[in-house]
Amino acid sequence: MLLRMSTLLLRTLREDPADAEVPSHRLLLRAGYIRRAAAGGYTWLPLGKLVLDRITEVVRAEMAAIGDQEVHFPALLPAEPYRTSGRWTEYGDDIFTLEDRKGAEHLLAPTHEEMAALLVKDLFSSYRDFPVTLFQIQTKFRDEARPRAGVLRGREFLMKDAYSFDLDEAGLQAAYDRHRDAYQRIFTRLGLDFTVVHAMSGAMGGSASEEFLAATPVGEDTYVGCTTCDYAANTEAVVTRAPAAGDPHAHPATEVHDTPETPTIASLVELANARALAGRTDWTAADTLKNVVLAVRRPGAERAELLVIGLPGDREVDLKRVEAALAPATVAVFDDWSAHPELVRGYIGPQILAKHGVRYLVDPRVVTGTTWLTGANEPGRHATDVVCGRDFTPDGTIEAADVRPGDLCPACGDGELTMRRGIEVGHIFQLGRRYTDAFAVDVLGREGKPVRPTMGCYGIGVSRAVASVAEQHHDDRGLVWPAEVAPCDVHLVAAGKGPQLDAALELGGRLSAAGLRVLVDDRTHVSAGVKFTDAELIGIPRAVVVGRRLTEGYVELRDRASGERIELPVDGLVERLLDEAGGARRDGV
Ligand code: ATP
Ligand code: MG
Repeated sequence: MLLRMSTLLLRTLREDPADAEVPSHRLLLRAGYIRRAAAGGYTWLPLGKLVLDRITEVVRAEMAAIGDQEVHFPALLPAEPYRTSGRWTEYGDDIFTLEDRKGAEHLLAPTHEEMAALLVKDLFSSYRDFPVTLFQIQTKFRDEARPRAGVLRGREFLMKDAYSFDLDEAGLQAAYDRHRDAYQRIFTRLGLDFTVVHAMSGAMGGSASEEFLAATPVGEDTYVGCTTCDYAANTEAVVTRAPAAGDPHAHPATEVHDTPETPTIASLVELANARALAGRTDWTAADTLKNVVLAVRRPGAERAELLVIGLPGDREVDLKRVEAALAPATVAVFDDWSAHPELVRGYIGPQILAKHGVRYLVDPRVVTGTTWLTGANEPGRHATDVVCGRDFTPDGTIEAADVRPGDLCPACGDGELTMRRGIEVGHIFQLGRRYTDAFAVDVLGREGKPVRPTMGCYGIGVSRAVASVAEQHHDDRGLVWPAEVAPCDVHLVAAGKGPQLDAALELGGRLSAAGLRVLVDDRTHVSAGVKFTDAELIGIPRAVVVGRRLTEGYVELRDRASGERIELPVDGLVERLLDEAGGARRDGV
């Protein structure tokens, strides 16, 4: 492959585009890989398409290597199967829906569990046909609330999605493990620094699930690690260890106190100590029970429901964790105070919630027998010794409290949690029978009785991976692609016109004939300096500069990552570059 800059559909930008907030987005725009075409929609320019295709090929090869079979479902689908599965409403505003000319409802698929289940039902009827795993690499559509950072979060994006069907749990576990291993190989080949973390399964349903997060400060996911064991989890999925329950009757009776002007936890703690409430002067925020009112809307529901969450006052509510816990419902801060006079803002306590039919969920630290300083449900008043299991009974627990660095690890109970940010590049789920149940996918079992297959699903954000690699591989001069995903193996720069240009083109021809992907800068109207700057911006692993020393038979080889430059004889250059690109070429197109 030989691309010529003189004719390439490419225009590099000197300045950072104003609307690009993260490095990968800035650089992919500036170096001419993508162009914004719509809100959350990007055009892949030739260089970008090459990177996208190389990543696609890595993914495709590793899926084929574990025996997954490639299919291609339509992206435009009838509403019916998604109604049957419940996802038509569960996905809420996130799916694009439309009507055809006959008025029949359709959607642009956000993922294809329904189609995969129906296809297997359509084709297979016996245990002998299993296990089977399908995958596709296809454009997905989601009406994201906040499309962001170019191809990192688009409304139209390329995903690899795979669906496994097994007859029993052991089979599903094996399929899951196979995909987990394949994902490790894929992301390693892409040059990503990633962590596999426990995850929530969100709108998909199902149980076990893990995410592959590429570490970067611009990632939208936060995840934790442990200083002692190998526990790693998305912050959404961190489970709080509950203390042992105690005797709720081992505490003094509740006492109500005048606590004027104490609508915040800090003001309450200060007053509690100043006035020695309940004879104590060692009150801290952790002794208080904070009650946060939220409005929860289930998909398809007309009105939001009231939910109060109780948590120790030294913790904040993390809305992302709440949403993950309540998915597919959505959560908003409650503001309809006038409709609920029983809720006295700043002075809410759980004592009266059951009476008013308000749902009350608590942090797992609020166990039976714990005693709290909390609101007395009257303006300017709080109560001490409000005891869980005696003065209030929660409707359940919820992981709503924020997770902080230094928190004890829930897995080993010994180490401390550390926190990082990352981008979700892959997600694997053990779905179970949610979809095979929905479509009554039954096949003849070994014993002659019907068996319902169990499913796994496995996604990779292929277009997001382009930006994730760029996010991890760049410097202040531009992109620095790992060899496996670079659009080309060699960037040839003709530093001058005339013989240097001819030699560069001739060398490019030979390199490309030898199987290398070559970009040659054969532009005649720009200076050598501009060409060098562009080469660094574009980020191809090796540049060969055909310059003044050509007359003596020498060119310069530049390594983009290390910045190393060496002079080399033109003779033997093809062999040397072939050698260096060996790994990439063997696996490549
Ligand atoms: P996110 O939490 O980032 O919104 P998700 O959990 O909704 O992602 P999945 O349904 O698990 O995404 O989809 C599988 C993969 O598709 C994700 O791991 C991610 O890499 C990719 N992906 C999801 N949404 C987008 C998007 N809007 N743009 C680009 N890639 C996406
Ligand atoms: Mg996900």
